[in-house]
Amino acid sequence: MHELSLLENVRTILENHAKEQNFLCVEEITLAIGALSCVETEALAFAFDAVMKNSLAEHAQLHFKIIEAQGRCLGCGQLTVMEMLYDACQHCGHPRVDVVTGLEMKITELKVS
Ligand SMILES: [Zn+2]
Repeated sequence: MHELSLLENVRTILENHAKEQNFLCVEEITLAIGALSCVETEALAFAFDAVMKNSLAEHAQLHFKIIEAQGRCLGCGQLTVMEMLYDACQHCGHPRVDVVTGLEMKITELKVS
């Protein structure tokens, strides 16, 4: 499952942060998820408890924030909102749009102690 390896990365990032910044426990974590990233929040929430077990984030509350996907049109050069990976430009209808945001998953907020 794709979500498991994503969360294992998150756990490694948290462990590294904890060493650098001297915290022992993650109380809350917000994951920002790109609208085109194909990550299912339900699957993530389900996998989260298993992956974080016995780690510093074992009891962390998990929140999600969906990031709207945007791309840069190769026709008119404007930014356009994308609902799907192969959406055409909303301004000029050009079929080729480079994704700028919306594929990523990252930690945006942490509450630690
Ligand atoms: Zn365009």
